[in-house]
Amino acid sequence: MKTKLCLLYGGKSAEHNVSLQTAKAVIGALDLNKYEIHPVFISTEGQWIKGPQLNAPVEDVKALQFNEGEEISPNALGTAMVPADSRESEGYDMIFPLLHGPNGEDGTVQGMLELLNLPYVGNGVLASSAGMDKVIMKNLFAQAGIPQVDYTWFIRSTWKANPENAYKQVEEQIGYPCFVKPANLGSSVGISKCTSKEELAAAFEEAFQFDRKIIIEEGVKAREIELGVLGNDQPECSVAGEIVPKKDFYDYKAKYEDGDTALIIPAEIDQETYGNMKEIAIQSFKALDCSGLVRADFFLTEDGKIYMNEVNTMPGFTPFSMFPLLWKHTGVDYPTLIGKLVELGMERHKEKQ
Ligand code: ADP
Ligand code: MG
Ligand code: MG
Repeated sequence: MKTKLCLLYGGKSAEHNVSLQTAKAVIGALDLNKYEIHPVFISTEGQWIKGPQLNAPVEDVKALQFNEGEEISPNALGTAMVPADSRESEGYDMIFPLLHGPNGEDGTVQGMLELLNLPYVGNGVLASSAGMDKVIMKNLFAQAGIPQVDYTWFIRSTWKANPENAYKQVEEQIGYPCFVKPANLGSSVGISKCTSKEELAAAFEEAFQFDRKIIIEEGVKAREIELGVLGNDQPECSVAGEIVPKKDFYDYKAKYEDGDTALIIPAEIDQETYGNMKEIAIQSFKALDCSGLVRADFFLTEDGKIYMNEVNTMPGFTPFSMFPLLWKHTGVDYPTLIGKLVELGMERHKEKQ
């Protein structure tokens, strides 16, 4: 019997378009003898649209937006998604949230799926939400003794009350260059590098447009090395890969528009560094109580210092994204990777029953 796989994609976040690319690729890679695909599109306004049943790969996933889909609220979706055991013909065996950023990768959708007692791919509520908030993530990493750059953070009202005070604190605690980021986002949206007070003030303005909380980090001159982690209780690491942005840093344009950022897999790093990174990647996975997958992103300085930058609980997932490429080089191709993620989701769901 085919696995009824529901793909949740799109989403009400700045990373909506990235999700469309991911959905298109996943649908194209799925073995239709094994899976029955049920796409559910979430618009940027947050409407849930259940597409017409698709039994063939979607050529252009964007077109799905304009299909005459049945419009349904998340509540109605719950009714449609009855658990596999008790289902009639309409239930799904597995939900695959192909969503990035807030309202997708941050535990909210995962919480809804938990309430509905539905099996889903990837990280649970806690890991997703802790991983989405860079401040909480870094606080947990700090507690686990994971090496990181110095950081501080502000909420909008504190900054508004006394901006000069906030800038002064950053200059004293962090210094220049520093990176200013919205706490809850990804894909480099709203991130700026600052080398002066003027830039710092502009960066605060910018980052606070996306979030009520921002983080400011010490800027390091470093290579960017990433590892894929896959598993539940016994996670495993992929080979390492390196990102070489053509620009000053790996910003949104470099990630998704220019397409000329080089990915070097495997990264040219020595075995000791790779070994240490593997260990830190697994520690980080456990510190957030992750399951399924994460991509662990590191900074590696010229003098060999390793800093954990972040984990992404739903990393870019097109066949040309780092996470799937890392696994491909480790011997797990794209369709196999999807299959493994479905199995891991099933395993975790059974553990909870
Ligand atoms: P996102 O979750 O949006 O990917 P990151 O924290 O990974 O946010 O930052 C995006 C990019 O900005 C990184 O890949 C890196 O190029 C650059 N960057 C971020 N923080 C620092 C830092 N502390 N020092 C140097 N570069 C940084
Ligand atoms: Mg991120
Ligand atoms: Mg990143």
